[in-house]
Amino acid sequence: MTNPNPSVSNPFAAVMDIAPRPPVVFASGQGSWLTDRDGRTWLDFIQGWAVNCLGHCPKIVTDALALQAAQLINCSPSYYNEPMVKLCGLLTELSGLHQVFLANSGAEANEGAIKLARKWGSRHKDGAYEIITMDHGFHGRTLATMSASGKAVWDGLFEPRVPGFIKVPYGDLEAVKAAIGPKTVAVMLEPIQGEAGVWPAGNAFLQGLRALTRANNLLLILDEVQTGIGRTGRMFAFEHADIHPDILTLAKGLGAGVPISALVADQSVCCFDYGDQGGTFCGNALMAAVGCAVVEEVSRPAFLARVREAGERLTSALNRLSAKHGCGTVRGQGLLLALDLGRPVSKAVVNAAFRRGLLINGPRPDSLRFMPSLTVSDSEIDAMIERLDGALADAALNA
Ligand SMILES: *Cc1c(COP(=O)(O)O)cnc(C)c1O
Repeated sequence: MTNPNPSVSNPFAAVMDIAPRPPVVFASGQGSWLTDRDGRTWLDFIQGWAVNCLGHCPKIVTDALALQAAQLINCSPSYYNEPMVKLCGLLTELSGLHQVFLANSGAEANEGAIKLARKWGSRHKDGAYEIITMDHGFHGRTLATMSASGKAVWDGLFEPRVPGFIKVPYGDLEAVKAAIGPKTVAVMLEPIQGEAGVWPAGNAFLQGLRALTRANNLLLILDEVQTGIGRTGRMFAFEHADIHPDILTLAKGLGAGVPISALVADQSVCCFDYGDQGGTFCGNALMAAVGCAVVEEVSRPAFLARVREAGERLTSALNRLSAKHGCGTVRGQGLLLALDLGRPVSKAVVNAAFRRGLLINGPRPDSLRFMPSLTVSDSEIDAMIERLDGALADAALNA
């Protein structure tokens, strides 16, 4: 041991060092604003990575938690509880699919999707198990979902990889067609690649994939962990393309900040036998009660219309800022947007923004990503643009 008591020199020494965290400790949040323990405030356009769809500490969530916590917290996934039954019903009604398994994270829902597709292949497709996934895709950080992901920086990490994932370029229907073989059971993708930097698949590609998977008796799995629950201005991103997947996964926005996810499937695919799927905390009443409250709020037509309107306001404002600072285009949909900076300066801009009291994300060296609360106000969008304007100027000065 080099330092017998590392906490003397570093108060954060006991926290596993998995990300370059700034030396700030957040203490409270309200709506689009975060406050640290010294009283400094930040305008939050990350919102837990598109998780807090109603902002920080919304009354809808704190009320649902308090009411349900006093009623029933957990009684095992082997029993029904009221919020579990209600949330599964809401999600099937809204998605047009038929059965739901509630879990705790996006990766866990995607693991369930992969297992369900493999089970369906073993039952109905002669043991087919291969899943075609996309370059630069992101499906989570478990071993199987890392293997399903197409992040180049993960190549060679945690070998051996889980086999059975074939990668193709995102948006290339001919490449998907060419990758189909006798062992193929499904195609899995995000309707908008989020972690890769906000790249929409486009309606034509999604519609082409739906037709192609139908024609070849393959399942279409849509990972809407980031795009689902109103983020793109519709309840689910697949609605923009007017298609339905066979399997859908949801997480981030579903709990508005609490850990809950969902594996949603068409009746024809639901083939788990008892014991195939489960998990100690899956479908617990406390998180499911929050999910119900969130889904009832976000699915209101007026709520979704406001997301689209706020998305348009943010897009126009980013385009004006881009013209002023000589950046590139704005991409994305609803309130999942990215600004192409046109040069590899995202780290400098993110750091400058942080110093100016703004949290934004740089998913790539040349791009910024914006994932505000779906309840973000016009004046908060304007305040963000003002701070970003300053941050872009700071970054240019220091370049
Ligand atoms: C965040 C994300 C995941 C992983 O979700 P976790 O809750 O972090 O496990 C999976 N897929 C997509 C598209 C995501 O954005």
